[in-house]
Amino acid sequence: MKQVSFTQLMTYVRCPEHFLFRYVLGMKRPPKKIMKHGFALHETFAYHFDQKKQDSKGLKPSEAKEFFAEVFQSALEDYETEMEQGKSLLTKEYLAKEKETDVAELLVLGLKGIDVYFRQLNPKIRPDLVEEAFTFPGGKGIEVIGRIDLTDKHNVIHELKTTRHTPPKQDVQTDPQVSIYQMAFENIKKRPPAGISKDYLVLSKREPKIVQFAVSRPRFDKKTMLRNIAAIMEAVRHNVFYCLHPAESWICSKEWCPYYKAHQELKKLGLQKFIEKHSR
Ligand code: SF4
Repeated sequence: MKQVSFTQLMTYVRCPEHFLFRYVLGMKRPPKKIMKHGFALHETFAYHFDQKKQDSKGLKPSEAKEFFAEVFQSALEDYETEMEQGKSLLTKEYLAKEKETDVAELLVLGLKGIDVYFRQLNPKIRPDLVEEAFTFPGGKGIEVIGRIDLTDKHNVIHELKTTRHTPPKQDVQTDPQVSIYQMAFENIKKRPPAGISKDYLVLSKREPKIVQFAVSRPRFDKKTMLRNIAAIMEAVRHNVFYCLHPAESWICSKEWCPYYKAHQELKKLGLQKFIEKHSR
């Protein structure tokens, strides 16, 4: 059976070209400080809820902050090594933007964010599944694998996101990520979840805050999702990788996309020659 991870599927949904670079050609994604920061926060909350599941208390805010600072520090050490290895892929604009990112400011924002989370959201969540591995049949000989961050004792799935800006009110119902979580939950618990909540920790400079978007169930049912998964796998098999962002989009900018140079080279060489060159 062919396995595909939840992360791979979501990468294809967001940018098929990114999927080509990362998963087909194995070009390592260069790091971003902000992603190391998000990773450290994610690890902190995962550790806290894992402890809370066992002793119903978890970490104290001061312990969580200490843990976060340590993980962030060690992630930044990895960042330096990864940056050194991936430098040749990057534009000078990307490197300049990374240089501008202030690590001390990120640290302070993370610490403030932990305070807000522990004050506002933590008391309401009694954890059930924490970083639970899942697998479910994705149809046509495909197995989907991944992890659910967190579910609570009321059978609500929580997906924690960190962001710098207040997210627009999204239609969580149409988010494919939410549909996959629902299928994963059903596979583990043999029943549908009571709800799905996207919990945003908004780390704005003025005052970090929590923004939640919740739904009882996603709009796309299992059949539609299985069809979509099969379509993605079929597209990958036939080398369908395209840029779906509008021209001049900030997503495809020199400052933001770590694959911008590869993107330009692909445009110049064409898909076939590009794949031949980078498969060697
Ligand atoms: S340049 Fe645009 S299309 Fe290419 S990998 Fe980056 S985001 Fe995707």
